[in-house]
Amino acid sequence: MRVPTKDGIDPQSSHIAKIVDKFRPDPDPFEAIYRDLHQNPELSCQESRTAKIASDHLASLEFTVIGGLGGHGVVGCLENGAGPTVLVRSELDALPVLEKTGLPFASKKQMIDTNGKEKPVMHACGHDLHIAALMAAASLLHAAKGHWSGRLLVLFQPNEERGGGARAMIRDGLYAEHGVPSPDVVLGQHIINTKPGALRVGSGYALAGKKAFRIQIPGRGGHVGTPQNCIDPVVTTYLLRRHPTTDHRQSRDRSKRNGHRRLRKYPGWKHAQRHSGQGGTDCQCESVFSGGAGASGGSNETDHRSRM
Ligand SMILES: [Zn+2]
Repeated sequence: MRVPTKDGIDPQSSHIAKIVDKFRPDPDPFEAIYRDLHQNPELSCQESRTAKIASDHLASLEFTVIGGLGGHGVVGCLENGAGPTVLVRSELDALPVLEKTGLPFASKKQMIDTNGKEKPVMHACGHDLHIAALMAAASLLHAAKGHWSGRLLVLFQPNEERGGGARAMIRDGLYAEHGVPSPDVVLGQHIINTKPGALRVGSGYALAGKKAFRIQIPGRGGHVGTPQNCIDPVVTTYLLRRHPTTDHRQSRDRSKRNGHRRLRKYPGWKHAQRHSGQGGTDCQCESVFSGGAGASGGSNETDHRSRM
């Protein structure tokens, strides 16, 4: 166990800080890369230019590089003697968002997405920064090779925003066919627009996540002239759609309160509660609502249908 000194400084971390200070690369070229990536973002599944920039950098540092995994995914391996295998990862893709920042290096890019629609493109989620930071980290760890041992995997994942890029890399044989060893530790990173200069380190889930759910709302048919005696699951579904849960605790609680208040006024709510899990014994109609909630800025896939 490491024991912090009286002034609270962990001797091990101060040792690491000294190595970082000594081998930290000049940040200017990485800032230039960040600006270039920001100005030239690429949509999910089309990250060829971005992947090449990352791949070329790893190749220049003696990494063994494999590209074209799961689309434009890249992984570089740096062997450095006995020790654990550590994987560090960044995303490659940008979002179909119009940039209005007015920055001198703002994106003016338009791309045809995979559905054939022309979209503005912006690194609105910060993946440009992640890429540049990971490239700088690769440079630092390469330069400091004499101070650590093991195997370093630097991975650039495609198609994070729409989901599926990591799985696509694995299905493309990342570990099985290409012989990339399974990592002992995986480190990810994400910026967030809260406190500038602050760094938070933790394990497990952090920042955004995505969950799927399915709600079945049984209804009851009736005459259109007496809607108060009917239970229209479409209306209930509408109320649920207006107050979706998100993974932000405050808005989740607020949505829950407001949603419940509105739903309680609607007769179908009690009925739906009574019948939940019973398959709607006397119902002639039902609505099935399934959706996802997340805040990764990408695709919350929703599917909404009703059966009458
Ligand atoms: Zn992101």
